[in-house]
Amino acid sequence: MRTLRSYLGERWVDGLGAPQILVNPATEEPLAQASSEGLDLAAALDHARSKGGPALRALSFAERGALLKEMAKAIQAHRDELLELAVANGGNTRSDAKFDVDGAIFTLQTYAELGEKLGAARLLVDGEGIQLGRSPRFHGQHVCVPRLGVAVHINAFNFPAWGLAEKAAAALLAGMPVLSKPATSSAMVAHRVMEILVEKKILPEGALSLLVGAPRNLPALLGSQDVLAFTGSGDTGMLIRALPNIVRESVRVNVEADSLNAAVLGPDAEPGGDMYETFLKDVLRDMTQKAGQKCTAIRRVLVADAHATTVRDDLAEGLKIVRVGNPALEETRMGPVASGAQLADVREGVGKLAAEGKAAFGSAAPLAGKGFFISPVLIEFAKGALAASVHAREVFGPVASLLPYSGKGTDAAAIVARGNGGLVSSAYSEDSDFLEEVVAGIAPYHGRIFLGHPKIEMSPGPGTVLPQLAHGGPGRAGGGEELGGVRALAFYMQRVALEGSRPVIQKLTGVPPS
Ligand code: NAP
Repeated sequence: MRTLRSYLGERWVDGLGAPQILVNPATEEPLAQASSEGLDLAAALDHARSKGGPALRALSFAERGALLKEMAKAIQAHRDELLELAVANGGNTRSDAKFDVDGAIFTLQTYAELGEKLGAARLLVDGEGIQLGRSPRFHGQHVCVPRLGVAVHINAFNFPAWGLAEKAAAALLAGMPVLSKPATSSAMVAHRVMEILVEKKILPEGALSLLVGAPRNLPALLGSQDVLAFTGSGDTGMLIRALPNIVRESVRVNVEADSLNAAVLGPDAEPGGDMYETFLKDVLRDMTQKAGQKCTAIRRVLVADAHATTVRDDLAEGLKIVRVGNPALEETRMGPVASGAQLADVREGVGKLAAEGKAAFGSAAPLAGKGFFISPVLIEFAKGALAASVHAREVFGPVASLLPYSGKGTDAAAIVARGNGGLVSSAYSEDSDFLEEVVAGIAPYHGRIFLGHPKIEMSPGPGTVLPQLAHGGPGRAGGGEELGGVRALAFYMQRVALEGSRPVIQKLTGVPPS
């Protein structure tokens, strides 16, 4: 069995003690082991701060962008191998695996291009200069400079390649070194990505480190110039935020957590029409892609009362033909969930939903044989049902709930809002008054709103996170924000207002005199 080592202080290091075993979730066969016990995390962080930070800050945005381009190329060159690992260790179908690995490559490329655009500068000019006095001589200008610490990235199990890449792209471009910690159960892909990058010697010393295994006291070692970007459950996010050093040192923390994403079908989208079909396709894709283990997956399906039965039957029909099985087999359309713990959690969640609603398709019943398999599950609720769990419990698997509503945009928005903050919700309608009501009602609760339309070519649906747009959401979703093009850099930089003589400031910032 392979031992996955961590890459800290510019070398591969083994943990001590009893390792955690990583398995193939389809067969439960052990694949690798990892331990972080006994590793000197404080020294690893210091190495990143003292070596990686200065090396990155000495580079311009264009030069840092060029590093990201090389990272993307290196991952691309090993794409097939990474896809195979994701199938084996993540329970991903090949198509699920592409979603993760290609997403990593695309995000690195996007930030590489952004670096090229930002050019020879090392600091980011933020907005226009401002005349502060009666004469233009007294001048103000906001600029952003890289923080001097280390960016610690803690990721969830569902996107080992993309999770590493999307966070690292923004931090490295901003000029901060990274210590990345993938979730242990699916760490093989992230570990291999790191091996590839180390073999290619793409990055300066200390710019990227990898911790495989339990996080131990990693967040407790951070100080005021460091940042922590966390993706995972709301409960872990809460623990991290409450750590004394995080509070005392005002360590900047970004949390990407749970979300009860909704899809709202407008009453004008008649069954059989193009808009209706687009909506069905998006719901079915989100329920089954990565076995529903996407933070952006549609969990609550809101349908005007008049069409609820048709939607239920059409979704059930679509789910019936989804072949659940070992993702190594070509005919499989949906693999297992990632781990035994995840399966138990999904089963418990389905139990809670089913106690308040009614199963319209599938169940949480165990499937015969080895592996962490579960059938897709659709739970239907009566209109106006005062169900609590559907708005409170994210079931992180191939599970969605059908909620009929009156057909009014304001009513749909009020139901969606009960999720208390989400990453993305979507609306499917051509009625602009309806859309206006829905968007106005749900926008304060979301980081992104997807307006589905049959004419959008190759639409990825709401579940795909694009690097050009912000990812994150308020409330339950953690209150964080990642990506969104250049916006992502702000988290890794200190915004400072320069106030003084205009020519001096313009010289310092490289802004040409006006
Ligand atoms: P999790 O148990 O919170 O674990 C997430 C990460 O945190 C893992 O790397 C884990 O390491 C680490 N961790 C666990 N306890 C920690 C602690 N006390 N201090 C520091 N790190 C700690 O979540 P999960 O079950 O892996 O992920 C599923 C959840 O992630 C879902 O709720 C999903 O909605 C959410 N998610 C959100 C997004 C988003 O962008 N908003 C994206 C993906 C997933 P180990 O693996 O070593 O335990």
